[in-house]
Amino acid sequence: MTPFPRKAVFIDRDGTINHQVGYCGDPARIVLIDNAARAIARINEMGLLAVVVTNQSAVARGLITEAQVRRVNSEVALKVAQEAGARIDAFYYCPHHPTEGNVAEFTRQCDCRKPHGGMLRKAAKEFDIALEESFMVGDADIDHQAAKDAHPELVTFSLPSTYNHGLGDVQVASLWQAVEQISQIMAVR
Ligand SMILES: [Mg+2]
Ligand SMILES: [Zn+2]
Repeated sequence: MTPFPRKAVFIDRDGTINHQVGYCGDPARIVLIDNAARAIARINEMGLLAVVVTNQSAVARGLITEAQVRRVNSEVALKVAQEAGARIDAFYYCPHHPTEGNVAEFTRQCDCRKPHGGMLRKAAKEFDIALEESFMVGDADIDHQAAKDAHPELVTFSLPSTYNHGLGDVQVASLWQAVEQISQIMAVR
């Protein structure tokens, strides 16, 4: 551990950075949500890591390949860079599903599928992130749950969606709004 561990904003991908389009293996279908790229640029400016954590059970279901997940991730990274000069520091994805898979190697219980906190814990290890001083932004209950599983003091922001039933620490309209609040929290810490 370095003496000054880093802080991160963990960000869900589908429904938080880009519009949800079902099981997506096609980069051409990626459309960013308004101001999401600017929000990530602001995370960069604050000196926080921007780390995407996304469930991609379509891989276990045999609908898309891991290579497609990575291509779509690259497209998201490219689009946020083009739109706002923003940088996503890392992507983590879970290709598994505990029961509904068609691909044996990915059909199993795992520690990385949200609501489990495995992706955040892995990122914390790889980037030396202080989880208790980090943040999570997502549009689903499982984003909040994964964050709290990784560390109960991690502050969560929830965006409106049919997957959000009010579990987040703070309800916000958008990633942009979450980042505005994060900058206020950072100013007084
Ligand atoms: Mg989502
Ligand atoms: Zn997994």
